[in-house]
Amino acid sequence: MHLSQLDMSYPITILTLFPEMFPGTLAHSIMKKAAEKELWNLTVINIRDFAEGNYKRVDDTPYGGGAGMVMKADVVAKAIRAAKKNQPNAPVIFMTPSGTPFKQAKAVELSKNKAGVILLCGHYEGIDERVLETEVDMEISIGDYVLSGGEIAAQVVVDAIIRNIQGVLGNDNTLSEESFDEDENGQKLLEYPHYTRPETWEGLEVPEVLRSGHHDNIKKWRKQKSLEKTKKVRPDILE
Ligand code: SAM
Repeated sequence: MHLSQLDMSYPITILTLFPEMFPGTLAHSIMKKAAEKELWNLTVINIRDFAEGNYKRVDDTPYGGGAGMVMKADVVAKAIRAAKKNQPNAPVIFMTPSGTPFKQAKAVELSKNKAGVILLCGHYEGIDERVLETEVDMEISIGDYVLSGGEIAAQVVVDAIIRNIQGVLGNDNTLSEESFDEDENGQKLLEYPHYTRPETWEGLEVPEVLRSGHHDNIKKWRKQKSLEKTKKVRPDILE
């Protein structure tokens, strides 16, 4: 293997209490091919390995009372510090519903940082705030709902980052006209509809303009459809 190939490999470390949930979806399709091409690599760290005593206790009851268990600061901090030994310059990102909503722009930004990312998955009620204050650089939510753990969220974030790395998608143009990309006016729009063969399916025809071969008209039609869709389902992203 050439050093240049190694240099290109985007490093990702996952910190989790459930390492068996990885690589999960990331072992398939585009992510699998990209890992085989060494465009990215995954390290999974079991947070429990840093717990002490016979019971390897990773959580405890919350101060102030209330439901659920809280992951312990000392155990989580040791796991984060172990990950940082291999990736000292990577941001440590905690997956949490109370984090900043994850957007395409953040996925693109993170994909450009060769240091990669360290993703911390919570479970139960969450993690002792003190370790978040001292060891975590960023908190990310994948949506306004509560999952049982950060593992699915982390896989979402990894997929969204990796597909922006050069060489991951067969055709790099695939990236330039997707939902949430900015058009030539800096406007973010949802993507236009797609069609493929057959021309007529159950009485429904592919729009004539797409069969015309007239590139300017196709471009205009797609822009119009993008605008209509965005106005209808996501008026909040239209300026
Ligand atoms: N008590 C927390 C709250 O109300 O914000 C929810 C904890 S949740 C049951 C357990 C873990 O799942 C969280 O620590 C986080 O890592 C992960 N998680 C849940 N929903 C998430 C979301 N929308 N985005 C990212 N991570 C999420």
